[in-house]
Amino acid sequence: MSIQIFGLPISRGVAIGRAVLIASSRVDVDHYFVSTEQVDHEIGRLRAARDAVADEILALKNDLPAEAPAELAALLDVHLMLLHDETLSDATKLWIEQRHYNAEWALSAQLEVLARQFDEMEDDYLRERKADIEQVVERLLRQMTAAAGKGGPAAANTLAGARDFGGADPLVLVASDVAPADMLHFKRSVFTGFVTDVGGRTSHTAIVARSMDIPAVVGAREASRLIRQDDWIVIDGDAGVVIVDPSPIVLEEYRFRQRQSELERARLDRLRHTPAVTLDGVAVELLANIELPGDAPAALEAGAVGVGLFRSEFLFLNRGGDLPGEDEQYEAYRDAVLAMRGLPVTIRTVDVGADKPLERMSAQELRHEHGLNPALGLRAIRWSLAEPGMFRQQLRAILRASAHGKVRILIPMVAHLGEVRQVFEAVARARAQLDESGHAYSRVEVGAMIEVPAAAVMIERFLRDFDFVSVGTNDLIQYTLAIDRADEAVSHLYDPWHPAVLGLLHRTIAATQATGKSVCVCGEMAGDTAFTELLLAMGLRSFSMHPARVAAVKQRLLRADTRLLVPRVRDALDSDDPAQAWAARKGA
Ligand code: PEP
Ligand code: MG
Repeated sequence: MSIQIFGLPISRGVAIGRAVLIASSRVDVDHYFVSTEQVDHEIGRLRAARDAVADEILALKNDLPAEAPAELAALLDVHLMLLHDETLSDATKLWIEQRHYNAEWALSAQLEVLARQFDEMEDDYLRERKADIEQVVERLLRQMTAAAGKGGPAAANTLAGARDFGGADPLVLVASDVAPADMLHFKRSVFTGFVTDVGGRTSHTAIVARSMDIPAVVGAREASRLIRQDDWIVIDGDAGVVIVDPSPIVLEEYRFRQRQSELERARLDRLRHTPAVTLDGVAVELLANIELPGDAPAALEAGAVGVGLFRSEFLFLNRGGDLPGEDEQYEAYRDAVLAMRGLPVTIRTVDVGADKPLERMSAQELRHEHGLNPALGLRAIRWSLAEPGMFRQQLRAILRASAHGKVRILIPMVAHLGEVRQVFEAVARARAQLDESGHAYSRVEVGAMIEVPAAAVMIERFLRDFDFVSVGTNDLIQYTLAIDRADEAVSHLYDPWHPAVLGLLHRTIAATQATGKSVCVCGEMAGDTAFTELLLAMGLRSFSMHPARVAAVKQRLLRADTRLLVPRVRDALDSDDPAQAWAARKGA
């Protein structure tokens, strides 16, 4: 029976496909298709892992000390039995044969099916056996990873080529939660849409999803419980609705809408190289937000005239807490700079913490579990200043990249004037160290992200030192309204139209322009066409957004006339309901 699940729309368009349920703990499992010729090899890997795990369990059992409780041996017997159970082995084989999933993916897909069956069991004893099957699968996955390290599966453990496999149905990802770091696994992946139970509109998971430019819904609460492995689902990324098992009529309607949005995309694509100038001749700079150097070509392709925000922290995630060294960072920044072919690249210093914890920040996560809020804790520049060696290392790497093109440094989350002093001291030291070691670098401007209300209120004082500013509206809204941006429970209160937010934004833009310095907006508001005209009217001339949003924003501003817009700003800012006041302007 068809059901509808409601969540938050975070990335537009319609996706229709089969659900692939992935447990949060399983997202780092590789997902790729194998060719028909590789199917037997993949099944062989599965069999080899099963035999190795069986040996491992038997060895454990043999080594049990005489005084070990009898239950332990019985438990190992249960694991051996589960290992050979056909609901695990035969069904996993079918995922490989029929869907061409790689062995690890097939195994985790089958685990999801079995876990659900266990959850639905009446009998407590049987229900608790779910943990056993999870442990067995865990062993198998670990075994396969170890074996892949020794010689590897026939197919490279990447998603490359996955799209080339023509036989499979389109797939959509369904998970309870996906950490921002794990979202990177899904960039350029086989999935054509995704749904999560948790998350807010501007959570970093949502932001990475949006950069993938596939329809997505987050905060869909019960989705991963209500949707079953392999169900056909429709993701309506415009409305934030997921339809499970749609009727033929509904499906036909969505297929129509899918074709419409493809046409719309093709139309927008044609604007790629059109200069971004309003009807009254005002030139606007449209920049791209990127997470990794590999995103730079997409930025160029979209017609962005530079990178306004390179979220460098994504280089720090997914590495077990290990930090990238200076040379590794330098190479990444240099690659981004070279890929942008002479266009400017603004590199934000690492912004970990809050919803992007480093693996080694487990103590902080623990604080989170105890009710402390990491969004107000040691994140962004606070963490960098607490790790001065790491910070200078990053600054040196960024400065060295400036030898290859125009680079700017952007500091996240500044709130205190003391932080400004420390930042400039660190930059000066990093420069001095490079002079000593003989590394080349060019002139690099240093800017501040305005994302804490204190910084917006005191913008003039921050501008005494910083060369430019960039408004991080995602955090500015979070901190102005005291709404955790990653929490779907309060997402209805996360309001970019709030008069306090617009007031701070307007103040920041006006005060910066009065000094002749440049101001950009790099939060999600910059890529949301609902705000294009208002931001233009406030005087903004530099917008930074996901590459996928550049064309739509450009289309909007090509039709805008600032002479008509500017006189309306005051009304909107003074209104108790700016959204309504700004919309009414159209009829005026
Ligand atoms: C912001 O806060 O608006 C911003 C651009 O930074 P991030 O989303 O990475 O916190
Ligand atoms: Mg931010």
